[in-house]
Amino acid sequence: MTYRAPVADIFFTMRHVAGLDQAIADGLYGDLTPDLVHAILEEAGKFAEEQIAPLNRVGDQHGAVFRDGMVTMPPGFREVYQAWSEAGWNALPGPTDYGGQGLPTLLNTGCVEMWNAACMAFALNPLLTIGGIEALNEHGSEDLKARYLEKLVSGEWTATMNLTEPQAGSDLAALRTRAEPADDGTYRITGQKIYITYGEHDLTNNIIHLVLARLPDAPPGTRGISLFLVPKVLPDGTLNDVRCNGVEHKLGIHASPTCTMIYGDHGGATGWLVGEENRGLACMFTMMNNARLNVGTQGVAMAERATQQALAYARERRQGRAPGAGGEGGSPIIEHPDVQRMLMTMRAMTGAARGVCLLTAEAIDRARLSSTDAERRRAHERASLLTPVAKAFSSDIGVEVASIGVQVHGGMGFIEEAGAAQHLRDARIAAIYEGTNGIHAIDLVTRKLPLSGGDAARAQIAAMRAVAQRLVKEQDDAFGQTAPRLRTAIESLDRATSFMLAALKGNTPDAALAGATPYLRLFGLAQGGAALAEAALAADAARRGGDGDPAHPARVALARFFAENIMVGAPGLEETVIAGSGFVQDAPLALAS
Ligand SMILES: Cc1cc2nc3c(=O)[nH]c(=O)nc-3n(C[C@H](O)[C@H](O)[C@H](O)COP(=O)(O)OP(=O)(O)OC[C@H]3O[C@@H](n4cnc5c(N)ncnc54)[C@H](O)[C@@H]3O)c2cc1C
Repeated sequence: MTYRAPVADIFFTMRHVAGLDQAIADGLYGDLTPDLVHAILEEAGKFAEEQIAPLNRVGDQHGAVFRDGMVTMPPGFREVYQAWSEAGWNALPGPTDYGGQGLPTLLNTGCVEMWNAACMAFALNPLLTIGGIEALNEHGSEDLKARYLEKLVSGEWTATMNLTEPQAGSDLAALRTRAEPADDGTYRITGQKIYITYGEHDLTNNIIHLVLARLPDAPPGTRGISLFLVPKVLPDGTLNDVRCNGVEHKLGIHASPTCTMIYGDHGGATGWLVGEENRGLACMFTMMNNARLNVGTQGVAMAERATQQALAYARERRQGRAPGAGGEGGSPIIEHPDVQRMLMTMRAMTGAARGVCLLTAEAIDRARLSSTDAERRRAHERASLLTPVAKAFSSDIGVEVASIGVQVHGGMGFIEEAGAAQHLRDARIAAIYEGTNGIHAIDLVTRKLPLSGGDAARAQIAAMRAVAQRLVKEQDDAFGQTAPRLRTAIESLDRATSFMLAALKGNTPDAALAGATPYLRLFGLAQGGAALAEAALAADAARRGGDGDPAHPARVALARFFAENIMVGAPGLEETVIAGSGFVQDAPLALAS
């Protein structure tokens, strides 16, 4: 199934949900105009459709191949990667001092969706490189920046993120890789890292590893972790003491090499410190925050791709009505109400997740570019609050929508030839890497909700209420129960938020931890529903103003469907958060038997 880049939907969401026009009016984006944003999205969409999408199937079937310490990428990957970086796409969000175009995170997030929808295994490589560029630009010495940034920004070299070790996954305090200071100011790195994405490949002639390790006198736990830059090829052209020991056989993203990396077979790989000693985790988090939004966007991408495929199949496949439902003869399955429900669910969930991710991207831009300290601080809190929601809610939706996509295909969905199964297999990892979704839910509840004494969360809830207020004034029948359902979801979120804050302040942190995942889902449902409602309000206003675009009534229908069929789950989630957390007292008893 070919991929059609949803440029119109992305652009509409940027403008009417994520506040692109306002950001431009506020002078955040220099001389960027909505027309220019649209033109860039169009070009990116064309590249994604024509050049990247054809790699998806061959990448899945061929996979990345490991032999004698080398990784060979599937046919076509090298050529397309070169064309992609030469066209300047890698440099789009990069710092202008090093050859980047310095374009907003909001615009880049739209492009990231399209690269990933076209082929997630291809797009994962630049996703990590962009994170590496940010970490280096923010924390690296001038010397390191001068040596590495330009080539990373252009895409001539790529970057990796090396956190995970066999005993240290979610718990980075258990990390053991060591860094010994050498006489010349560099460090000798020894240890093993696992699951390192694009740790080895043949797309470029150098790979820049960003590696977390401990100094000999480092304090235990996460306070004793430092960040090092370890290039595959040293500045003098010799190979560094780092090698790939193998690639994993995985459920999905077969073309993305997931490598075991061995540092220091011959006395230690040469590394340079990035940022201060023992402050490595903070530096790495610069990289990870960016990557988290992008991983959430991978969820949107997979959901979009699966939806397009399911829609096309449902228009072609013919079956008669179910026994007892009346009527004879075959009709396209898209005409059956249960299939329509599946397809609408796919569309609506995809749109909700896209809204959450683009809102988060705009908050990240404002946190960096707003003119006053107060505005930057507020935006930073908003971005911090929304990032775990964007990551976990959207990647969960990627999996759920891809799974519904398999269902729409019936038996063919289970057959690899149809392609629906690949989307489900590929989507699954986004809920696991960059911190599992469970860890993000805990981050949301324990670190983000308490920001400014809970004011950041309350401000976000107030913004959702403002959308609901505008909906109430909307008289059009086409909106159905959108306004009351959105209000109900927001009130559920408000009460669950108060419960969480009280549990954290009081003596029941386990109650907050136990309810973290349903709380994040509730947050995502309310935020996603508000995003769809904003898009629907803008679409309706355009229609009433004489704009005959058929997408406008469809946007209203989608917001309504989401409110009446999906967001109605919000009170149940509130109940789970508040009353359901009581299970933690009895869990040891029940699980022991
Ligand atoms: C394909 C792939 C690519 C990857 N790419 C990279 C990469 O480029 N660089 C890199 O460094 N790593 C990478 N990873 C590693 C990935 O980030 C980790 O797998 C992930 O963070 C989870 O760690 P873990 O596998 O050790 O699971 P564990 O930490 O063992 O978690 C197992 C389960 O326990 C839960 N859990 C753990 N601790 C807690 C807790 N305190 N409270 C509640 N629940 C908890 C988790 O949510 C999870 O459900 C990749 C992994 C894969 C599979």
